[in-house]
Amino acid sequence: MKINLAVVGDPIAHSLSPVIHETVLQELGMDYTYRKIRVKKGDLPAFLKSGECLSLQGYNLTMPHKQDIIQHLDFVDEDARIFNSVNTVKADGNRLMGYNTDGNGCLLGIQDKGYECKDKNIVILGAGGVVSTIALKTATEKAKKITILNRTLSSAQALADNVYRKTGKKVITSTLTTESLCEHCQDCDILINGTPLGMEGIDADFNDFSFLSVLNPYALVHDLIYKPQMTNLLTHANKLGFATLNGLGMLIYQGLLADEIFLETSLDLAFFKAKIEDKLKKI
Ligand code: NAP
Repeated sequence: MKINLAVVGDPIAHSLSPVIHETVLQELGMDYTYRKIRVKKGDLPAFLKSGECLSLQGYNLTMPHKQDIIQHLDFVDEDARIFNSVNTVKADGNRLMGYNTDGNGCLLGIQDKGYECKDKNIVILGAGGVVSTIALKTATEKAKKITILNRTLSSAQALADNVYRKTGKKVITSTLTTESLCEHCQDCDILINGTPLGMEGIDADFNDFSFLSVLNPYALVHDLIYKPQMTNLLTHANKLGFATLNGLGMLIYQGLLADEIFLETSLDLAFFKAKIEDKLKKI
């Protein structure tokens, strides 16, 4: 049977979703279409009624629709409900089912490195969309201590309030400065960069990396950026002997978990991740 899938959002031209999902569909020998569909903010209700949408068995949802979709769904899974964000929609007959695979995608990347969040001291940089999901996930995973450092303190505080409301976990917040990094990275087990500092095409990076020297010796430094694959943060952490992880694992795993939902099957995640990494290297 043919399966019709898509990634829906705006902007969409540079999305890597087709590489991830087409690799899986091709390896499985499926008859498929996977399209990029540009839907502007506010146009989601019209899209949902369109023939193009009704022909899809499922779609990956990206900016700016991850929250707007929720009111249109018949079912919302637990992570999507807690995050108030949906990245995967499956049509089940007339019912629209919403899921969020970002949190578990991030956890799988971290697990690949032999780490888990439970009982760990986690410092997260940034307070935007992706950090919102990861902060909630680390709280539900029973991290011992979560600290959010952000350029705009009020955003970090609003996120901390949300995590407390949803999970009962208190989160420490501070403004992101060299001094606060040095203070809060003391005794940190997992450091996660959820800012675009060091990203390709962004003319901004950390001023200095001295804060890395106060991390726990066995700490994991996780940059959510995947372009470049080695940011300056990861290069410095590597030189100091820390375990490092870029954002490619999270990107790929959230897609593979979405495919498991679309196809209603378990996939050999390690096998498909390796295939997708190979393809992404060639792009
Ligand atoms: P977002 O919602 O726009 O949030 C950006 C965050 O970074 C905000 O907290 C912002 O602080 C901070 N920031 C922006 N520019 C900064 C600067 N020059 N100095 C210090 N802080 C700065 O973005 P997002 O969607 O959460 O994405 C954040 C990062 O995660 C990006 O690098 C993106 O590539 C990466 N990401 C990775 C994956 C993956 O699968 N690996 C998925 C999604 C995103 P303010 O609050 O002060 O503006």
